[in-house]
Amino acid sequence: MKELLHSLAPEDLETLVTDRGQPAFRARQLLDWLYRHPVLSWEAMANIPGVLRAGLAEACDLRALKQVERQVSGDGTRKFLFGLRDGHTIESVIIPMADHVTFCLSTQVGCRMACRFCATARGGLVRGLVPGEIIQQVLLLRQDLDREPLPGSDGHPNIVFMGMGEPLDNFPALESAIGIMLDARCLGFSRRRIRISTSGPGDGLRRLLASDLAVGLTLSLGGSDDAERKAVMPVPGRTPVTEVLDLAERYGKRSGRKGTIAWVLIEGRTDHLNQARRLADLLRHRPFKVNLIPLNPLDDDDQTAPGPERTLAFQRVLTDAGIGAFIRASGGQDITAACGQLRRRRSRPA
Ligand code: SAH
Repeated sequence: MKELLHSLAPEDLETLVTDRGQPAFRARQLLDWLYRHPVLSWEAMANIPGVLRAGLAEACDLRALKQVERQVSGDGTRKFLFGLRDGHTIESVIIPMADHVTFCLSTQVGCRMACRFCATARGGLVRGLVPGEIIQQVLLLRQDLDREPLPGSDGHPNIVFMGMGEPLDNFPALESAIGIMLDARCLGFSRRRIRISTSGPGDGLRRLLASDLAVGLTLSLGGSDDAERKAVMPVPGRTPVTEVLDLAERYGKRSGRKGTIAWVLIEGRTDHLNQARRLADLLRHRPFKVNLIPLNPLDDDDQTAPGPERTLAFQRVLTDAGIGAFIRASGGQDITAACGQLRRRRSRPA
């Protein structure tokens, strides 16, 4: 596949242009067509000379994503299935909040983390997305909001990397995409609006810590000790729980952002009160809050979410220990909202 124009940092775009004997200001004009008034066709770039357009089109692709499906939930959640140039598909979601919208983005086609509760994990990893494929999710979601606005959708969206894939397992592409999001010449987002969600593979967390990224971090834990965690999250579970928490804590201190722990509640598996107590012990004196996420059931197994009483009892153990714990209802229950389910349904014979 050709390089995507949206994968390039402004400096690389400038090199691309000047290598073709064109003045550097053409790169600035290109940036306008890529980010300020985004177009996804070469013909629409009115002020770019035809010879440059042709030269760029030879080296680079402009468009990588095509909408294959769009589902709208009763609660306003919009879920998209996008087709990529090689025929694979990814999901992205627009989640309406009170005064803004959140974009939930994918970073990989499939995933190799093998988490037992996750639909994306089922088929294993196909490939990581390139930066431009991550950026184009933002552009297409924005385009959708231009056509059908939501309250607060005229401002910048919040970005969460909670879609398909493990962001820290595709670190260089993630880092470049976030660079393009933050760059004032490109999307110009504030880093405060961006949050990575990770299952916490140790090597990925170490790379994050060694980088300059200072966006928010949510760590999905899935077990209160090593054996438990590994049973639910086989690949990230290879890194000891205390080490994962240490790394996330150090990152939180460096980035100046308090971290979040995500805990998926699965009936009979991750909802025992002694797990809540161990979790409370692990998190005491550490700067995290906890989001409890009742399982969004998958259609191919019988794991379910615990009832409200058990969920509240789990929460109470944490809050009684002085740890901020919040129950996060999953949006879009009436559409195929569990991450990866839409893609899976589409790729199986009816
Ligand atoms: N790999 C990253 C991002 C994708 S998962 C990560 O693990 O964070 C994003 C969030 O959705 C995680 O908190 C994960 O625990 C949660 N999640 C995944 N499948 C789920 C399901 N079936 N029900 C509820 N939450 C789920």
